[in-house]
Amino acid sequence: GTPQSDMAALLTEIPDHPSSGVVFRDLAGLYAEPGMLARLASHVAERLDGQFDRILAVESRGFVLGAALAALTGRPLSLARKAGKLPGPVYEADYALEYGRDRLEVQKSALCPGDRVLCVDDVLATGGTLHAAARLVTVSGARVAGLVALVALRGLGGQQRLSGHSVLALCEVP
Ligand code: IMP
Repeated sequence: GTPQSDMAALLTEIPDHPSSGVVFRDLAGLYAEPGMLARLASHVAERLDGQFDRILAVESRGFVLGAALAALTGRPLSLARKAGKLPGPVYEADYALEYGRDRLEVQKSALCPGDRVLCVDDVLATGGTLHAAARLVTVSGARVAGLVALVALRGLGGQQRLSGHSVLALCEVP
């Protein structure tokens, strides 16, 4: 079955983190639940079987599901990192934060034209981060196979913003 209800019970709401008025969804309990990460990776692998050639995981909490999925499926794993961390030529994608801007980068050698790339992160909120990851893929000449988040926060416009892509969220919360 779908993991939605089991996942929701393992999420913790932290009021006023990282700033006043924001409710932070903490996934620590999800990762600590024995067997849960393997189950979630299997769920994604089954749902998207045969649809992607490579995984692009977003720093830093996207690395968790990204690594589990790569280990399970044997697909190559590429890492999208925050600005200035990767050596050599990189593709760049800027995106808006609540206050200010940030930038994701990926090594040019980490994406191949024609590859179908699955972009993975922990939480989908406004969609800005996964949208930037998708732009890294398209600018490389690769194709976006889909966008995956463990948890999607409803009501922040994320799903609409990413509507040009196929989005898989394993758990949706208000
Ligand atoms: P977005 O770009 O607005 O969709 O925000 C998603 C990014 O911010 C992801 O990389 C998340 O790790 C992080 N994020 C936003 N809100 C939360 C939250 O409530 N819990 C955990 N991470 C969050």
